[in-house]
Amino acid sequence: MGNIFSSLIGNDIIKNNIGKDIRAGHNSHAYIIVGDKGSGKHTIAELIASAVSCEHRFDSSYPLPCGECLNCRKIKKDIFTDIVRISQGDKASIGVDAIRTIREGLYVTPNDSDVRTYIIEGADKLTPQAQNALLLTLEEPPSFALFLLLCEDQTKLLETIRSRAQIIRCEVFSSAEVARFLKRMPGGEELSRKNPAKFAAAVSLSGGSLGKAEQLLRGSEEGSTLLKSRETAAKLISLLSGSKSSPLLKMLPSLPKSAEDVKSILYLIDNGIRDLCSLKRSDECDMFLVFFTSIEEALECASDMPYRKLLHIHDCICTALRRLDGNVPVKTVYTDMVFSCLKHKRLV
Ligand SMILES: [Zn+2]
Repeated sequence: MGNIFSSLIGNDIIKNNIGKDIRAGHNSHAYIIVGDKGSGKHTIAELIASAVSCEHRFDSSYPLPCGECLNCRKIKKDIFTDIVRISQGDKASIGVDAIRTIREGLYVTPNDSDVRTYIIEGADKLTPQAQNALLLTLEEPPSFALFLLLCEDQTKLLETIRSRAQIIRCEVFSSAEVARFLKRMPGGEELSRKNPAKFAAAVSLSGGSLGKAEQLLRGSEEGSTLLKSRETAAKLISLLSGSKSSPLLKMLPSLPKSAEDVKSILYLIDNGIRDLCSLKRSDECDMFLVFFTSIEEALECASDMPYRKLLHIHDCICTALRRLDGNVPVKTVYTDMVFSCLKHKRLV
């Protein structure tokens, strides 16, 4: 039997439910695809759009989409006329005009296939007026229209829109899955061998997002800055596992000067602390790590950190982040954080 959405890593619910519904010809006429930036919303939308137009979609001996039929080839070359994309572009929101344009051509039958797919990127940026216009469209769509609404925050959509669409949540991936994905990219395997440190950093900095991981690995300048941040975060985590303040304070001059950059490092440390907390609570070998790229690396750090200390460090990081948001100078925030993290010894 041909695989469904074989290029999509993870996301079994999407493969099993939506892919099979398309195969059987009873998919929903509207989907809301929810996920953070780089979480794979676009990949999923493109796959659904290709699948509903694939000429072999009802034939289970072909993969879905087949990638070979005329429609699949046109979609790949971006010359397919039955996919309409709407986005906010450089504007802050998507106004009612964009939806009016959709409504004007809504009942015109598709050209290339028997489905026309409307992909609305940043649907959470639709103005209330635009959302109301869209609602009218979703209430009485022609049988050949399919709507894919991509957004980061589904709560910004009207309840009446949400109730008329099936909601798809993009998965966040474990480090192991992200690493597998990166290695499968063209040249990915080679990059992992030539520059293992950068590869590891891209995996752990991606926060489980495949799009972000790829961007980090490809982007040279941004990649190297982030690599440095990740190294700093890893060093700070290992120093925080000890009980001495002086090596931590010695790190201060090497920290970035801007509060925003320090915040990114603190977020990374917090991801690491979360990994260690999960490690303490589970004895599974194939567990979900976000910051650490291997269980061995995480175990080495975790051995010196009791669970209560990890929670305490997490609290201290949250306080530090709040203070940086409140414009307290980096030096003060960092020094106070170091001392409050180490105070834990006296707490137990
Ligand atoms: Zn096809």
